[in-house]
Amino acid sequence: MERITLEGWQIRYDAEATRRAYLARGPGYPEVCGCLDCRNYAAARDTTYRGATLELLERFGIDPSREAEVFATGQVESGLYVYEGWFHFAGVVDVASDPFTTRDPDHGTLFGLFFTAGGALMPETFNGLDVVQLDFRAEVPWVLDVPREHPNDVPARPARPAAEAAGGPAATPR
Ligand SMILES: [Zn+2]
Repeated sequence: MERITLEGWQIRYDAEATRRAYLARGPGYPEVCGCLDCRNYAAARDTTYRGATLELLERFGIDPSREAEVFATGQVESGLYVYEGWFHFAGVVDVASDPFTTRDPDHGTLFGLFFTAGGALMPETFNGLDVVQLDFRAEVPWVLDVPREHPNDVPARPARPAAEAAGGPAATPR
């Protein structure tokens, strides 16, 4: 196994074993699920996995088109959608640290990640290997032509009277 020290994490990984496991498994979770959120995530992959993020995934031997799990959790102020999910790779976490982010300087997509041992929803092709789960949180644009069914999952704000919202004369005493 090779070793990497990353933001306080110390991890051993076997990129060759990981590549073999990805080649032998089926398509990524978004393709299997097929819901609108997943289709958008798949369509936006090229902008999500770039620069330092893509380099890191490839270093571990991960095929970035084959996530183990992906789900949307809501929308942030910038209008981007927050997705969480994870990948697996063959390896061992020797020293754990805190979640950290990679950001493509040319693009600005925020990609937060951390590692846990073992794996939820792990493809059978990883059986018999020591497996690390790379959990991520990515901010992703909506790139589909079809609008999102529930465009904003964040808690609803109390409705304001239209005149007040517009700063109109109704707020002024007569
Ligand atoms: Zn889905």
